[in-house]
Amino acid sequence: MLTVTDPSPGSLPDATGAGLLTKRTEVLGVGVVTLDILLEVTAFPREDQELRAAARHRRRGGNAANTLAVLSQLGHRAAWVGVIGDDADAHFVLGELDRCGVEHRFAQCRAGAGVPTSYVCLSQSSGSRTIVHHRDLPELTAAELARVPLAGYDWIHFEGRNPKETAAMLRHARRERPGATLSLELEKPRPGIEALFEGPDVLLIGKDFAKSAGATHPEAFLREMIGRTTAAHCFLAWGAGGSYAIGADGRFWHRPAFVPARVVDTLGAGDVFNAGVIHALLGGLAAEGALQFACRLAGRKCGRLGLEQLCDGQAEPT
Ligand code: ADP
Repeated sequence: MLTVTDPSPGSLPDATGAGLLTKRTEVLGVGVVTLDILLEVTAFPREDQELRAAARHRRRGGNAANTLAVLSQLGHRAAWVGVIGDDADAHFVLGELDRCGVEHRFAQCRAGAGVPTSYVCLSQSSGSRTIVHHRDLPELTAAELARVPLAGYDWIHFEGRNPKETAAMLRHARRERPGATLSLELEKPRPGIEALFEGPDVLLIGKDFAKSAGATHPEAFLREMIGRTTAAHCFLAWGAGGSYAIGADGRFWHRPAFVPARVVDTLGAGDVFNAGVIHALLGGLAAEGALQFACRLAGRKCGRLGLEQLCDGQAEPT
């Protein structure tokens, strides 16, 4: 289990995370890797409009993979487990995982399949991203995760998808690696997702999940969630509204968004936020400090394209 410390004023790390990592920890992420095709447009198109993109990018994406890529930059040993096809796109995304230091030796290859793909329209005027996602890849099963040796991992992070299998994975991880902290991301509502409220130590919740559950007020939503989960903490990212957290003891925190000089690209901001929380908690900060650090890191990300060199120590643009 984690040892946490309350942040003293002035002791919080900057967005590079410098000074937080006391030991190189091992993090396993179980979830999705995608191919992202991004089109930068000056403004979001109207339906039935034809327009020319200002730029096109081909990147590796996926929630768990993005979170791991940032954790790797922050100095952790990061490994990914999930499903992947065996076509040229699959080779591209695995090569990109190599490039950002994310180990993928336990990836489950589905012969003849491709890679889930996100087609992203990135508005230059607002930095907002609109995503159309396509996948036809069968999900990872609990039996497949059971073949992955979990010894040595300090933290195991899951995506809240395929609830029945993921619930079995959480139970397996707890049994096999009782010393690891287990986190779960709740991004979208899915039938039976409540099965995953029991098991994780940390819930990382996205605003789309909260809104689809009818939440209009983050505090009321989190107070209800903490009563329905075994997690010691729930974190809630709320876009430009910043983020919120609650502890099992009922303590509640809000941090406003850290707004960069220009919002350039919000794609993956939630994944970066999650990496920030994991890094800060692994570094021994309490929930309030973790919330602050994650907000800074996610805000820094919104000010630049992609995730490259996010934690490179350069001053944030003002
Ligand atoms: P997702 O990528 O899952 O949609 P959010 O949009 O909720 O995630 O963003 C995650 C975090 O990123 C927020 O909690 C906030 O800290 C930061 N963030 C998102 N949008 C902005 C923005 N426009 N300006 C500054 N920070 C932002």
